[in-house]
Amino acid sequence: MKRSTVLSALAGFVLAGPGIARAATRVTHSDAEWRKLLTPEAYAVLRHEDTERAFSSPLDEEKHSGTYACAGCDLALYSSKTKFDSGTGWPSFWAPLPNAVGTKTDYLLGLPRTAVHCRRCEGHLGHVFDDGPKPTGLRYCMNGVALRFKPGRAA
Ligand SMILES: [Zn+2]
Repeated sequence: MKRSTVLSALAGFVLAGPGIARAATRVTHSDAEWRKLLTPEAYAVLRHEDTERAFSSPLDEEKHSGTYACAGCDLALYSSKTKFDSGTGWPSFWAPLPNAVGTKTDYLLGLPRTAVHCRRCEGHLGHVFDDGPKPTGLRYCMNGVALRFKPGRAA
């Protein structure tokens, strides 16, 4: 399902050259295209900031080494090295990979929260809170359905 996404990202890279690769590799689709590309659950979270049910994601319990990539555009977002069991029922990390995510403030629950999105496709991933473990003290509370786990050597 991600073939067109990856190809368009590659095309952007080739056309623009490595100098402006970061901007060129942004992955964009219309809402209707995203709906076709993603599972209904991933679409609801990534494109419409839904939140999956706590303890519903198998990735919450995932303990193997590897990389957690964006379910929307396949960008590597988190290393298993920064994953921890927060007890919240959502996959949690104390740091993202460099240049992987962006943040913005939302008020969906009335109070300000810091929403986390994929830097490449701007898909909503979850929120970040300041009650995480050392060394950062941050807790990136992610929707497992917005991530795809790739077992292997951790980034
Ligand atoms: Zn993405």
